[in-house]
Amino acid sequence: VLILAIETSCDETSVAVVKNGSEVLSNIISSQIETHRAFGGVVPEVASRKHVEVITLVIEEALATAGVTPDQLSAVAVTQGPGLVGALLVGVVAAKSLALAWGKPLIGTHHIAGHIYANRLVAELQYPCMTLVVSGGHTELVHMEREGEFRIIGRTRDDAVGEAYDKVARALGFPYPGGPHVDRLAREATEVVPLPRVWLEPGSYDFSFSGLKSAVLNVVNQSKMKGLTPDVAGIARGFQESVVEVLVEKAVRAVKATNSKQLLLCGGVAANAGLRAALISRCEAENIELIIPPPVYCTDNAAMIGAAAYVKWQHDGGTPLDMVADPGFSLEHWSVSAY
Ligand code: ATP
Ligand code: MG
Ligand code: FE
Repeated sequence: VLILAIETSCDETSVAVVKNGSEVLSNIISSQIETHRAFGGVVPEVASRKHVEVITLVIEEALATAGVTPDQLSAVAVTQGPGLVGALLVGVVAAKSLALAWGKPLIGTHHIAGHIYANRLVAELQYPCMTLVVSGGHTELVHMEREGEFRIIGRTRDDAVGEAYDKVARALGFPYPGGPHVDRLAREATEVVPLPRVWLEPGSYDFSFSGLKSAVLNVVNQSKMKGLTPDVAGIARGFQESVVEVLVEKAVRAVKATNSKQLLLCGGVAANAGLRAALISRCEAENIELIIPPPVYCTDNAAMIGAAAYVKWQHDGGTPLDMVADPGFSLEHWSVSAY
């Protein structure tokens, strides 16, 4: 089964050709980060316009790199949501046009299911499994009892981890996206500025990061008021230690509580060196099988959409051509229904 997959939910225009939901024949990613950096974050109108400019070229390049012609494709998949509505629309319109022109089925795909199934590109998944989703807009613990069935057992009540990283980075004087800068500073730090951990009610799998972010802002402001230069590396280290400790603890607890056979990590923050190292050593100690995709499959890409689309397609077939881009698309509702 050959699927052409399109992803335009945020600021990456990406098109991939994926075989059987696991073998990546091409995965072209055109990033707009340079364009948005000047604004300190993603500007929705600018993102849509950029997607329109490059989408046709990225589609052609994905086909050429894969050495595949449209008649060989089984289906066209596209991120239906969640994401920026104008950005999603560009991908959805392109996918519908191609599906119609080539006479191929369309597969509307959930973006976070894509992040989760990025793991299918690097390992064979065993169910039940637990996924820790840590991206720019989401922080969730997702339990999968079976293939394609998603149940969110914990989620952030305020900021997503990536969002918190970006805000903290900005407070420390670093440009968007700030996650990688905080990660690097944390590694270089010699001191640790102590910051609070937010556990919420006992037994809860939910997260909260806005209080931690405020604590960082307080430390920065207090140093400035005293005329001192804030210890940016120490703050970055303290922030990262707090985030990582809570994420690892709750993920491991969720694995045990659900008898999950594997723990999967995904989303842009999965690129974080501190989080990866802590999860690897903790899972080793607890005898939990941990899967982490390489960074290129952690941040937004179309290969992961092809992987999730394949699973959905196997169970439920295609999506009606009149489907619409949905910025609030629900992961649980996207679960496969054919059992
Ligand atoms: P969503 O998938 O929830 O819609 P998104 O697709 O915008 O959000 P991703 O592309 O998965 O998010 O991830 C981007 C986020 O990952 C940014 O917030 C960025 O700062 C963060 N990030 C990237 N690398 C690192 C790192 N090494 N450490 C921490 N955060 C990182
Ligand atoms: Mg992005
Ligand atoms: Fe994403």
